[in-house]
Parts: sequence; C-alpha cells; structure tokens
Amino acid sequence: MAKKQFKSESKRLLELMIGSIYTHREIFLRELISNASDAIDKLVYRGLTDDSVTTAREDFAIEIRADAEARTLTVSDNGIGMTAEELENNLGVIARSGSFKFRREADGKDGEPDIIGQFGVGFYSAFMVASKVTVVSRAFGEETAHVWESEGSDGYTVSDGDRAEPGTDVIMYIKPDTDDEKYGEFLGEYTLHSLVKKYSDYIRHPIYMDVTKSRRVDGEPDADGKSAPSWEDYTEREVVNSRVPLWQRPKSEVTDEQYAEFFKNEFSQEDDPAAVVRVDAEGAVSYRSVLFVPGKAPYDYYTRDYEPGLKLYASGVLIMERCAELLPEHFRFARGVVDSPDLSLNISRELLQHDRQLRVIASSLEKKLRAELLRLLEADREKYDAFWAQFGLQIKYGFLQGYGENRDNLLGLLLFRSAKSDKLITLKEYEETMLADQPFAYYAVGSDAAALRALPQSELVLERGYDILLMTDEIDDFAAQMIGKTGEKELKSVRADDLGLRSEDEKKSAGEKEKASADLLAFVKETLGGRVASVRLSQNLKAAASALTAQGSVTLEMEKYFSSVSRDGAENVKAERVLELNPEHALFAKLGAAYSDDRDRAAKLAEVLCSLAELTAGVGIADAAAFARTAAELI
Ligand code: ADP
Repeated sequence: MAKKQFKSESKRLLELMIGSIYTHREIFLRELISNASDAIDKLVYRGLTDDSVTTAREDFAIEIRADAEARTLTVSDNGIGMTAEELENNLGVIARSGSFKFRREADGKDGEPDIIGQFGVGFYSAFMVASKVTVVSRAFGEETAHVWESEGSDGYTVSDGDRAEPGTDVIMYIKPDTDDEKYGEFLGEYTLHSLVKKYSDYIRHPIYMDVTKSRRVDGEPDADGKSAPSWEDYTEREVVNSRVPLWQRPKSEVTDEQYAEFFKNEFSQEDDPAAVVRVDAEGAVSYRSVLFVPGKAPYDYYTRDYEPGLKLYASGVLIMERCAELLPEHFRFARGVVDSPDLSLNISRELLQHDRQLRVIASSLEKKLRAELLRLLEADREKYDAFWAQFGLQIKYGFLQGYGENRDNLLGLLLFRSAKSDKLITLKEYEETMLADQPFAYYAVGSDAAALRALPQSELVLERGYDILLMTDEIDDFAAQMIGKTGEKELKSVRADDLGLRSEDEKKSAGEKEKASADLLAFVKETLGGRVASVRLSQNLKAAASALTAQGSVTLEMEKYFSSVSRDGAENVKAERVLELNPEHALFAKLGAAYSDDRDRAAKLAEVLCSLAELTAGVGIADAAAFARTAAELI
C-alpha cells in the first residue's frame, strides 16, 4: 500500500519531536486519555438526541492495556470513533501547525526549541515513546472500521480494519530501551497507574487497567495439621481514576498543582494559569465553575481566528465546547468550565445561546473575574504586570466598548507607564503622587515612551515635579478621553495648548506677543493654505522651532489610528491641525525679519517650519520633494 506523506510542515515537526530530548514525554498518556474522554463525551452528547446510541451511560469506558512481550501499549475508548476520512484529516495533518509557524518565527534564535510547545500537545506526542502507532477506529453509525498506521515522519497509511463496536484503539509500539532512555517503563503497571493518577484522575469516564494484586493461599497441611500460608499474584480489572470532576470537588481539596494540570490538559496549554477562580453558586441558577486566566495569550489571540468561550456542561454532560455567551468581550481570554444542573439537556445549541440562565451565570462570572484581577493587582503586582502584558490591550478595548458602560468597572484595572518611575501604575497610584499645586493630571500619547518623555512639553511638566502617564497603544487617545478625570483632576494631554503652568504675568505677556505677531501669524496661515487650521505662538516649546498639534476633539494620534485601520474611511477623520511656533527660537526671528524685507523668503521659511513640525509629529509631509527643494534653497 502506498504511503501518504504528511503535509511538509507536519513532517518537519514530527522529526523535531521524535528527535527531541523531551523530559516530559510521559504526558503522551494524558493526551491520549483526554482524546478518548472527548470522544466519549461526543457520543454521549449525540445520544441526547439520537436513539440509535444504545450504549448505557455506565458502560462508557477508557481502557489502558500494556503487553510487555509485544511491547505494545494500547489506549481504547468506546466513544464516537473516526471515519476513514476523519482519520485522514485529524491525524494526517498536524492541527496546530499555525502555532508552530508563529513560534518558529518568534523564537527561532534561542537554539533548542520547546518542541511540545510548538507542537501543541496532542495525539502526536505518542511518537515520543513509540516507533510505530496504529489507530483502529470505527465511527459511530458505520459498519466497518479503519486502520491508520505510521512510523513517524515518513508518512502514514489508511486501510480497512475490524472492530466490533464503535470506538478507537490507539496502539503504540514502544521504542526499544537505550542506555539513556528506558521507554520500557511505559509498559510497567506502576508507572502507568501513577501517570493516570497524576494527570488524568478527574477524567469523568472510568479508566480501566489490569491491576496486580496478591492474595493469601493456604498451603497443604503438614504433619502437625498446620498449613504454611503463601501468596500469589493475580490481576483484576479496576477503575484507576477517581473520576469526580475537579469542579465538583470541595475547593479545599484541590491543590494549585491540580488546577494547573487540569488547565493544561483540558485546554491544551503549555503555561500555568496566571489566576484561577472557583465559583460554586446556589440560587436562581445553580452552577459550578472553574475559570482560568491564561499565563500567555495564544498566538492568534488578537486575530479573528481566536474563538472565545467556556466549556459548558449540563449535569456533567458536555453541551458546548466554547460557549462564548458566558464571557463578556473584555474577558474573552478566560478559559474554563461551567456545569449546571439547571440547564435542560435537550436544549438545542441555538436556543441555548439565548438562554436567560446563561446570562445570569455570565454576569456573575464577570464580577468574579474582575474581583480576582483586582485582587491580583493588589496582592501580586508582578503577576498582574505579566497579565497586563498579555491581555492589557483587551482590557483597554473593553474599557472603550459600549460607549462607557464598562468604564467604571474596568477603570481600576488599567495600567499606564509613569514618566517619573518608568513603572506601570494605576490611575489611583498616579493620583496618590499628585502634588498639591498640580493643575491637571498629565498624559502623553504616542508610539514610544522614551520619545514621549523627551517631548519639550513633557520636560516642562516634569520640571515642575508632576508625573505624566505615557500611553503607547494606538487606542490610548480614546482611552484618555474615556477616562476624562482622575480624582478631581482633569486628564490633560501635554500637547494641549494650556497646560496650566503659566503664571498670570506670563499669560499676559504671551497674549501681548501673540497680538504683536498677529499679522505674521496670519501670513503664515495664508501661505500654508489648507495644511493647517490655525497658527499660533507656543510657550511650551523649548529647543524645537515649531510643533504640530490639533484643536478640537480629534487628535493627531486618532487620525493616525483611523488611517491605519480603514482604507475608505481614512479621509473622514482628520484632525484640525495647529502649527505652533516658538517665539524664542532663532528661526522665528529670521521669519519675522524676512516678513518685513522679503515675503518670498518668509513664505519658504513658513513652509519649512510647517514641514519640520509635521515630521516631528510623525504625520508625514505631503510633498517631500518640494520640502527638500525649499530647504536646500534656504540653506
Ligand atoms: P486535539 O485533541 O487537541 O484536537 P489531537 O492531535 O490530540 O488534537 O487530535 C486531533 C483530532 O483527532 C481530535 O480533535 C479528534 O477529532 C480526533 N481524535 C483523536 N483521538 C480520538 C479518539 N480517541 N476518538 C475520536 N477522535 C479522536
């Protein structure tokens, strides 16, 4: 039979995996057990609406069999099974190759890659311990079985096979032992038993194994009529997992390690969770839930491919793999399980999405998650900072969403960089360090914190001893507007004209200067035509000759944001640009002199001053060639 080749990426991956010295190869067993359990869940679910599923609830089982002589280890289930096509599609390509690609680009430099991480855990981990894997599967509803077989990266075959009942056997031909690697231990009862206990104890379906026991046998009586007892071994088929799902166990009985294990196993995660929330609710709707905040955002988190949602069970039966209705948009990173006896089993998936009970659960989970994040913020700042690095942008989007409906709830979770300490701080922490005479709470928006701190306006504010919140996400201008005020103080951009720093005298003299230069400023504006909406003098510029700011509600950063997200709408959102000139700068004096003697030269100077301001503001200049020409002429 001709061998089919794995897709090229899968092939490379398999080679990496098989050849890697991976210390946690033992996790292959939990992966196969989880797949078996999922397959049973699928058939149980099918049985809710399909009378042809005749397996009794208590007969569903997973079985582990080791044959030391044949050196095979088999994991079987009587779940939904796979058709030939499914064997081909599910096992013929590596599901998460997208993740692999991403990681290879992301950390290809650091030598030995984390194979399991790249791989996504799963069926293929069997190749870490097996030189050949045979999968015999019969899909529910089909009369025949099929056999998928592979010795690793050189390809696989699919052929016809036999199986009495629907379900799947995964048969692993365990690799020969080497001096360093004792693969044979995975055929040993003790090892297998403890691996099941360690990784798969809470799996709800029974996991059967042959367990060796000893019993006492009485020997033949001797001359005195006494019998010498002896012991003999026998095996008994036993359920080895304790089966109570983790969320059904008393809170106090579950350790952090068990939660972490559950999280990794159930949601194919590589990292420990950053936070765990347990909810046991009794009331209008009773349910139990365990929620996780992942330690790391999945590679596709901020893309359309990411599917949010919680696993939804009704009295222990999986109803939906990812029920998105249970999570608000701003916490869509959370993973976890909800199990409720109050949900009816026969409810269709569509109807379920609009269930009032789900909304009740969702709203209380939102509060619990929020409380947990606030607790983390208070109790373990380092961990919260790490969380923020992964999901801060999501929280910020949530903060902006719904025109303020989440504002008050999420305000306390926001972090911004302090210009003074260079640490991430909350608005409350900013407030606490405000000085008594501070007129505003200051912030600066741009793409780079160091550049924001170095703005001439920032220098002015910092000189007074006032801190500035440095905001570097593209949506931060909107966030600042949504925040509006912190404590009693208005949030003020350092790019604003009036930073509240000038004394009455300074203001008066500035007003006089502005008046004295009125003709010149009008000339500059006219020369620049539509490029700016207004021209004025600024007291906030230090070394720079000119700067560009905006008046009205659309800032330059917003304009940049809109032109980055939309191609068609870009024209619609434009900032009203203001050219600020520094009256203390030598170029301003030259401009004034040229205005009196040589209007042509004054016009050129005005254009160059405007272009310089545009360049500094990062909005780009419309006609670079003209700028170069004019600048060259002037020099
Ligand atoms: P994952 O389980 O994370 O999706 P795997 O590589 O472990 O990734 O498995 C790929 C797919 O193969 C599964 O999603 C499932 O559809 C199918 N599969 C694996 N094992 C079984 C099984 N024992 N019974 C039925 N289907 C299975």
